[in-house]
Amino acid sequence: MDKTILPGSTIGIIGGGQLGQMMSFCAKEMGYKVIILDPQENCSAAQVSDDQIVAQYSDVDQLVELAKRCDVLTYEFENVDAAAINEVKKYTQVPQGTKALKVTQNRISEKDFIEANGFSTVPHVVIENIFEYHRGVEKLGAPVILKTIRGGYDGKGQILVTDPENVCYADIEHLLMQGPCMLEKKINLEKEVSVVVSANSKGDKSIFPIIENVHRHNILHLSTCPAQISEKSAQHIYNVAETLAEKLELVGTMCIEFFISDEDEVFVNEIAPRPHNSGHLTIEACNISQFDAHIRGVCNLAMPQVELLKPAAMVNLLGQHLEPAKKELSQHPEWHFHDYGKDAVKENRKMGHITILSDDLEKTKQAIENNSIWDV
Ligand code: ADP
Ligand code: MG
Repeated sequence: MDKTILPGSTIGIIGGGQLGQMMSFCAKEMGYKVIILDPQENCSAAQVSDDQIVAQYSDVDQLVELAKRCDVLTYEFENVDAAAINEVKKYTQVPQGTKALKVTQNRISEKDFIEANGFSTVPHVVIENIFEYHRGVEKLGAPVILKTIRGGYDGKGQILVTDPENVCYADIEHLLMQGPCMLEKKINLEKEVSVVVSANSKGDKSIFPIIENVHRHNILHLSTCPAQISEKSAQHIYNVAETLAEKLELVGTMCIEFFISDEDEVFVNEIAPRPHNSGHLTIEACNISQFDAHIRGVCNLAMPQVELLKPAAMVNLLGQHLEPAKKELSQHPEWHFHDYGKDAVKENRKMGHITILSDDLEKTKQAIENNSIWDV
């Protein structure tokens, strides 16, 4: 059983992006010391932490160095090497373990795991070459989406095939050269939603209210809470969250993404074994945030019952949105403005977000829709 880690102790975080930064804010507030391991000097998380080890995530010597300096180790992204985690476990406790990592790092094992627990995924086939691609398209029926098995995020490593007669085979071959791929039926989406769930080593859980998500170009654009879905779908989604958290032996925070089809079927899309972009609104909207819950979980503290204090909307600030949003900030007392402090501003890179608490979410969504900042 993992020890309880009390304030004053040191938390090591592998990964120094915005998720690590927001974890660090919460840890520091409670009185923990935080050390970040990230290859980029002065990364987002290092800016708000006690110290940083500048090293690649695969550098086992430096991971061991981090482990020796920490009372507990956590990671903020899913592409950490499970073997490296097992190595550093000799030096400190890593309560998140590697089960959730191993299952979710690979779209095949992820979908198999979801189905083995009795939950639906979208119709899909695994393909390894262009012949299997053709057979897959025939079986599923267009439109389909081809996805890499590993390492995809924000729609990267995906090809949408709307018309199978008219595709760029070079693009498909290029994805297949990276290894087996997942071919998925493209669902007519009524809604996308997500649920964040956190747990400590005793298995006590905090489950957050369901969040509704709108993507643009496969990148999360807008999240709102509470989600406008049927009671039946909500019950099902909370059941999935509880079951998968238990089966993955969850410690810390994870998020499950769902598709709701236009025929009101609920499919599990994917699982992120870490805090999630859609959960950022919990910082202002709930009694504890997904990051507080993560720190409580990995430190084996008590897990509170989550309450939504006020409905909220969160809109992402990508590279092209950051400067225009800053220019308008002084006109918006309702904006909770988050800038992750990344030095390289790139198009479509997540640079920050804005959360707005509101009793009239429709009006708030309309205001975001009408604001030209998010036209690009
Ligand atoms: P990522 O790892 O990039 O988040 P996802 O599989 O979640 O990959 O895909 C990103 C987005 O693309 C989804 O949130 C959804 O909007 C759209 N999408 C992906 N797969 C499907 C599908 N099978 N049917 C309909 N939309 C999909
Ligand atoms: Mg996704």
